[in-house]
Amino acid sequence: MLTKDLAICIRALDYSETSQIVTFFTRAAGKISAIAKGSKRPKSAFDGTIEMFSFGKIVFSDSNKETLAVLTEFEQQPGFTHLRDNLFALNCCLFGTELLSNLTNDYDPHPELFDSFLQFLENANERRETKDEGRRTLALLIVFQLTLLKEIGLMPVLNACVNCKNNFSTDWPQSYFSSSANGLICRDCEASFPDKVRLTGNAANCLTNLKMIAESDEKTLNEIEKVLIYHFTELLHRPPKMAKHITRGS
Ligand SMILES: [Zn+2]
Repeated sequence: MLTKDLAICIRALDYSETSQIVTFFTRAAGKISAIAKGSKRPKSAFDGTIEMFSFGKIVFSDSNKETLAVLTEFEQQPGFTHLRDNLFALNCCLFGTELLSNLTNDYDPHPELFDSFLQFLENANERRETKDEGRRTLALLIVFQLTLLKEIGLMPVLNACVNCKNNFSTDWPQSYFSSSANGLICRDCEASFPDKVRLTGNAANCLTNLKMIAESDEKTLNEIEKVLIYHFTELLHRPPKMAKHITRGS
């Protein structure tokens, strides 16, 4: 059976002189791996060699989900070319992709996550050349990471203490994030949660009011990103490979 879908390449490996094995995150089918026979030949049905973040309409046959699908067409749209000359934006996109790839299953559709992922790549690819660009890109990554957690059903509790359910308030003298509890922990409860990180007032405010992320200063965003890296490390039982390229100046 031939299936049409919208897809973003999240991994491309050489298979032979002329062919590739490609993993796509697709809108309707979720993550799929396919063999693209002849994709490296000058003339193919795939508009040229398939690269990381190549995006467009695909057609594939998935007669048996246990084996590789066969890619039959790929109509590539203009890619995210500015990422090539903005290393930090590229690293943020690669990090987001690593998390997406590790936390979703094959043939498990997440259309809203697909839309958020595409939006994240488009926004990160937009050339701004302002002093503020690194901060803005980090904010985009944090928003995408939280969307990913929400879409896979692991959104942390961020508006109240996960343990005693008391609503967060800016009067809290201390606040913590615990990965095993999946959310915020207040001072009264923190002793019961050995696995936790203490949050500054700014980071706690920002995490409990996600609209503040886009406008937050770089120091606060770096702190939040470190909390998320700790959380993803716990979820994956190992540090994500790209994490070391993201947080700076600490
Ligand atoms: Zn509590």
